[in-house]
Amino acid sequence: MNGKYTEIYPKSKQKHGDSSFSIVASDAGDMLYVAGSDMERFKGEIISDPDGTYKLCPLTVENSKVIREIFDFTRPKSHKGHAITIGLGDRLGLASAGHIRTVCGLDVFPVLAQQSIRELNLTGRTYDDVLAAAVWAVFREGYTKGYGADGDHLKSHDEVKYALGCGYSMITLDCSEHIRNDYAGAPLTEIEAKYNELPKDITSTLEERYLEKNFPVDNDVTVEFKKDDLMRIVLIYLPAIEHALSVYEQLIKGKDIDFEVSIDETLSTTTPQAHFFVANELLRLGVDVRSVAPRFVGEFQKGIDYRGDVSEFERDFIIHAKIAEKFGYKVSVHSGSDKFSIFPIVGKQTGGKYHLKTAGTNWLEAVRVIAEKEPQLYRELHTFALENLPEARKYYVITCDLSKIADLNSTPDSKLPEYLNQDDARQVLHITYGLILQEKNDDGTLRFRDRIYKALHKYESEYIKGLEKHIGKHLTELGI
Ligand code: ZN
Repeated sequence: MNGKYTEIYPKSKQKHGDSSFSIVASDAGDMLYVAGSDMERFKGEIISDPDGTYKLCPLTVENSKVIREIFDFTRPKSHKGHAITIGLGDRLGLASAGHIRTVCGLDVFPVLAQQSIRELNLTGRTYDDVLAAAVWAVFREGYTKGYGADGDHLKSHDEVKYALGCGYSMITLDCSEHIRNDYAGAPLTEIEAKYNELPKDITSTLEERYLEKNFPVDNDVTVEFKKDDLMRIVLIYLPAIEHALSVYEQLIKGKDIDFEVSIDETLSTTTPQAHFFVANELLRLGVDVRSVAPRFVGEFQKGIDYRGDVSEFERDFIIHAKIAEKFGYKVSVHSGSDKFSIFPIVGKQTGGKYHLKTAGTNWLEAVRVIAEKEPQLYRELHTFALENLPEARKYYVITCDLSKIADLNSTPDSKLPEYLNQDDARQVLHITYGLILQEKNDDGTLRFRDRIYKALHKYESEYIKGLEKHIGKHLTELGI
């Protein structure tokens, strides 16, 4: 070994033509080592020593794009053909190694890069950054089984174009801005009046298609539409269907992209009729939907277990899972972090074919490492999070009882990690991540961000172990 790097990650060694590659650890952090004619394709420092000439390259977005050109396994892929797919959002860009080690021996296709525009804004990252972090983790771990990249909760054509342009393999179209939820609770007279304003050729075709018919979903479940329900569903969902169709036809069609339609970001739960109607219309119109995210009964708050009646959830979920199965796509469960009490139901009632998204819990595991290893930094984050909760609540809806969070001043260092086992504290630490990462000192420098990254680089093996344990528990409960 020489002075330029201290360690080679053995699983990262690759060959391409006359070139050899690996990821090495150096004082400046992990670097790409390249020797051979591919060297000239990367930006980095050429080094000549008695062992030969090679280049050490920083793990930048630019270099990651060249790695993606050379090694197919580092490119995000469609998850088609994989029954269980799991979104593993990584807001810091440090969690993928832990995620890969969690799933590598299992029949699970990981979507390692998964980020919404809201998360990009809150973390100050780009889609290129998010994907590059996954690419380097995949390369370092020598993970050749394939992974996906999800442009999550995208709302507009431009957002979809942005994610596709960066090489993302999955698009989750958030239709919430086109779902007319104001009609969900409107009186029937208003529904009738509005429905009658729609073009007659559209409504009569829909009535012919849906009224006085039984749609068997399986032996036990049949979906039927009464005129009142149909009018309401058409008013609420037709604009969303039109939006999804337009995005699909202009941007997705003809490409091997996992197109997910999300109708979950609404206040009211998705009825079986509504799910059936949306799916039936989209498939009839030729949209290759790979997954649909309905809004299930109960509360899916971020980073904590499911809140609601588990048996009621199961009854509701079975129907959605069967509708998905009938149409040949996956049911997608969003806000899937830490929903331990419903995981066995998701695993069982889908027959092991589903998509589940997690994100916040991976950030919370990072905070757990900080609580264990850097108590002073944890105390500052905790205090800041509590002070800035009202601001964070503008972006995330949570119900938490601050009086249940133990007083920080009377909590010894050894007990700090226990905050990560308490729901109310978890929620506070979860939703303030964006404010924490972007907070600046008076002189313009970042107040916490660099210290968080430094700590997590230093204690990377602890973070990896924490993720293996915690995401591993998710998978165990799902029955994987
Ligand atoms: Zn969602």
